[in-house]
Amino acid sequence: MQTPDPQMYSDLDRLGDEIAELSAHLEAATARLLDRIREFDERGGWSNGFRSCAAWLSWRVGLDPRAARERARVARALGTLPRLAAALARGEISYAKVRAATRVATPETEERLLAVTRAGTAEHVERIVRGWRYVDRQAERREATRQHVLRGLSVYPGDDGSVVVRGRLTPEAGALLLRALEAARESLCPRRRRTATTSGSATATGVVQNGPAEPPTLPQQQADALVLVAETALHHGLDPGAPGERYQVVVHVEAPVLANADQPGQSVLEDGACVSAKTSQRLACDASRVVMREDADGRLGEMGARTRTIPAAIRRALHRRDHGCRFPGCGVRIAEGHHIKHWARGGPTTLSNLALLCRRHHRAVHEEGYQLERNTDGALTFRRPNGWTIPDVPDPPAVPADPKKTLLETNAAHAVTVDSHTLTPEWRGERLDVGYVIDVLHPLTNPIAEDPASNPPTEPPAAAG
Ligand SMILES: [Zn+2]
Ligand SMILES: [Zn+2]
Repeated sequence: MQTPDPQMYSDLDRLGDEIAELSAHLEAATARLLDRIREFDERGGWSNGFRSCAAWLSWRVGLDPRAARERARVARALGTLPRLAAALARGEISYAKVRAATRVATPETEERLLAVTRAGTAEHVERIVRGWRYVDRQAERREATRQHVLRGLSVYPGDDGSVVVRGRLTPEAGALLLRALEAARESLCPRRRRTATTSGSATATGVVQNGPAEPPTLPQQQADALVLVAETALHHGLDPGAPGERYQVVVHVEAPVLANADQPGQSVLEDGACVSAKTSQRLACDASRVVMREDADGRLGEMGARTRTIPAAIRRALHRRDHGCRFPGCGVRIAEGHHIKHWARGGPTTLSNLALLCRRHHRAVHEEGYQLERNTDGALTFRRPNGWTIPDVPDPPAVPADPKKTLLETNAAHAVTVDSHTLTPEWRGERLDVGYVIDVLHPLTNPIAEDPASNPPTEPPAAAG
C-alpha cells in the first residue's frame, strides 16, 4: 500500500473534471454535426451516386455502416424533437442517451423522455427505451389483430342492377391490391391511348362521327382495373405462381434500341407498359435473352435459343474478382454484371469489359448519367453526370492544429457554457424500476393530457423503488 498523496488525488480530480468538461463540449458539437447531417440528408447531398446518407457518411468520414445509419437516423429524428436536440446542443445529455431516446420519442412523448435522459444514466435510458418499445409492440400487435378481425368485403347488387363493392383490408393486403390495381391501370392506359389514336384518325377522315371521348376519371380507371385483375386471376386459374416468377420482368426490345438508346424502336414490358430505352439496356445488361427476328411485315421470322448474357464461368470469375458493387463506397454483395461497353453495341462479355454493380448503381450508370470506364491499368473510374470523378477514397479533411482550442472557441461562439458537471445525471444510486417508469411515462399507460401545462409528470422518473 502506498501512502495517500493528497496532491495526486487533487491532480486526478482535475483530470477527471477536464474529461467531463471536454466530453460536454464534444456532445454540444455533436448536436451541430447532427444538424448539418440532417440538412445534407434533406437536401439530398448524398444522392450523387450513394444509396443513402449513411452510405455517404461511411465513405466520407469513415464511420462503420451501423454507426453511420444511427447518425443519419438520429439526425432525422431530432428534426422533430426540438427539446432533445436543444439539451444535446447545451451539452446536458450525451449522444448515447439521445440515440436511445430517439428510438421511441415522438413530439408528444419527447418532454417525458427528456426527463428520463436527464435523470438516468445511459444504461437506464437504454433499459427504459427497451421496456417502452415492448409496450409499443404489444399495442401494435393488438392493432394488427383488430385490423385482421375487421377485414371484410361486401359485394351486393345496387338498385339499378349494377354491383356495389365495399370493403376493408389489412395494410399489407391493401398494399398488394393497390399494386395490382396500379399495374392494371398502367396496362389499360397504353391500350386506351392506342384506341384514342385510332378513333382520332378515323374521325379526321370523317368515317366515325363519335365525339371526342372524355378521359376516364380515376374512380372509373380503378373500376376498369379491378375488372382486369379479376379477368387475369380467372385466366390463370387463380395461381399466383412461384415467388421468382411473380416479379419477373420480361422486356421486349428492338435490337436498334439496345445498341443506341436514341434510336427509335420499342421497349415494352410483357404487360404492355413501355419502359425507357435506357432501362431496357440496363435490364438486358445481365439477363437471359431470346433473340427474335421479325421480318419487314412484323412477322416473327426466326427465334434463337435462350442464353445467359453472362455465361456461368465468367460470372463466377467476376464475383471472385469484384466481390460486390464496385461503385465507390458501396460494396453491396448482391450485384449484377454490367457491360462497360454494352453487348448490343459490340462490347465483349469478357472480365475486362464487365464490372459488378448493385441494382441502385446499375441504374445510376444506365439511367442517371453516371459514367464508368476502365483505365489502361485495369482500375475503374466513376464519374458524376457532370464529369467529375468520384474518388474511391475521399481526400482527408483538414484538421486544425489545435482541435480542442477550435472546439472550445466554436462552442463559445454558439453560446455553449459547460462545466465538469453539465453531463452528470441526476441519479443518486437508487434502484431503477423499469416497469414503474413505463407506467408513469408511457402514453398508453398514462395518457398525455391535451393541456401542455400538465406535462411533464411531477414524479422524477429514475427515482423509483
Ligand atoms: Zn449495365
Ligand atoms: Zn452499389
